[in-house]
Amino acid sequence: MLNVTNPMLLALVESTEQALPMWALIAYLVASVLFILGIKGLTHPRTAVRGNLMSAVGMFIAVVVTLPAVLGGLGWGLVIGGVAVGGAIGVVAATKVQMTAMPQMVAIFNGFGGGASIFVAWAELTATGPTQAAGSQMLIATALAGLIGAVTFSGSFIAYGKLQEFKIFWNPWVLPGHQLLNAVLGVAVVTMAVLVIAYPGGAVWWYIPLVIIALVLGVTLTCPIGGADMPVVIALLNSYSGLAAAATGFVINNTVLIIAGSLVGASGLILTAIMCKAMNRSLANVIFGKIDATKSVSADDIYAGKIKATSGEEIGMMLDGVQRVVIVPGYGMAVAQAQHAVRHLYNELEARDVNVEFAVHPVAGRMPGHMNVLLAEVDIPYEKLIESDDINPSLDTVDMAIVLGANDVVNPVAREEDSAIAGMPIVDVDKCRTVVVIKRSLSPGFAGIPNPLFALDNTLMFFSDGKEAVEEIVAAVKEN
Ligand code: NDP
Repeated sequence: MLNVTNPMLLALVESTEQALPMWALIAYLVASVLFILGIKGLTHPRTAVRGNLMSAVGMFIAVVVTLPAVLGGLGWGLVIGGVAVGGAIGVVAATKVQMTAMPQMVAIFNGFGGGASIFVAWAELTATGPTQAAGSQMLIATALAGLIGAVTFSGSFIAYGKLQEFKIFWNPWVLPGHQLLNAVLGVAVVTMAVLVIAYPGGAVWWYIPLVIIALVLGVTLTCPIGGADMPVVIALLNSYSGLAAAATGFVINNTVLIIAGSLVGASGLILTAIMCKAMNRSLANVIFGKIDATKSVSADDIYAGKIKATSGEEIGMMLDGVQRVVIVPGYGMAVAQAQHAVRHLYNELEARDVNVEFAVHPVAGRMPGHMNVLLAEVDIPYEKLIESDDINPSLDTVDMAIVLGANDVVNPVAREEDSAIAGMPIVDVDKCRTVVVIKRSLSPGFAGIPNPLFALDNTLMFFSDGKEAVEEIVAAVKEN
């Protein structure tokens, strides 16, 4: 988090204090407190909407207070024009985007944050001139804003392509000597940063290759990462966008930007650690480790002659007399928008004294907390949402697991050392008495590997759209 004893920060706060009127500093303080309370609110579904609103109000205050200072330099036309164009794009994107495309949009917004940092630092560098008076503090911050901002920008657009499942990006590609290439680019970009800092006279010129090399580095770092490791990358890029913003805050002596950027950077790093734990991977392993799926068994070998299909009616009959049911939601529930139907099923079963719980895997869906958001939307009691680690030990007492559009997070090959998702903790649904898997086909999940769960003796496949399938089950339960 923010280190208020940091002499550099204190010096900047002091200089900002001299530049801004007291009311503006108080407004910045209010905005910062709102950011912090907002993040706290986001930690629980019941307070999440309020938290989001608080952060938005904080950001509004920060923008409004900053405007007069910016207007002096740029004039109304440019500023209002920029706000109008950017705001219009933001409103259209946010209202038109499908719920399933939210992760892609978040990736792009992270990228834009990084891009903005590159340009703001560049503008400040060219406007003030890199004199000795600017000091090494400003130059260090400029180099960091350019470096982190550029890696975030290009990396986020590759992440967008992967989440959008564009074939060219989705397949992890590794060049010959890829790690060596990353090392060379890393050394080159650090060298450029040192030149920006050490030779202020040429800083404007060193800054350009610094940004270009960092853009390439963002691509070469993100491209090899694929499939199940993407949640870690998304969280890390989110954190980078915050760090880039914080560095930019130092460049332009803006305390509220430093605080907001540090909050995003720190919370993104915490999220990265949580995602690494969820994948049972170290960060270094995700970024530099090559996916080495030595064992590649074909889908035909796994599924041939072993798949048993079922129907809503049959599942309705099986649910008659069960005591404990666990629903495992995944990305397919989001695609099908099946959460309302799930709520109806939950109501029907609970009314029949069946204990219904939800096993929520931390990386299910396409963004952290994806399943929690969808289930909270339909008011599933929060205590019914149980993390996979907590529910796994008791799954052998479950009569029926209903896997709704989940695939990778229930794939038992994660237990095999030489698989592409080796070591990733999964929801152990194969231990339940009966497993019903609802999906449209046998196609793989995001990690792109077949799932032997579908071929187990205790598994029944209900091939259908998630929402239609659950509605059929509800109708069948009502009839019994
Ligand atoms: P998966 O991506 O593994 O599988 C989703 C399944 O949903 C598919 O197999 C698909 O099968 C099915 N599906 C799609 N549409 C429908 C529909 N309309 N009705 C019913 N089923 C449907 O999802 P999981 O949630 O199990 O795992 C998430 C994966 O995404 C993990 O690999 C994770 O690492 C990765 N990821 C997660 C992120 C996060 O932050 N949570 C971010 C980025 C990646 P079919 O086409 O046959 O219907």
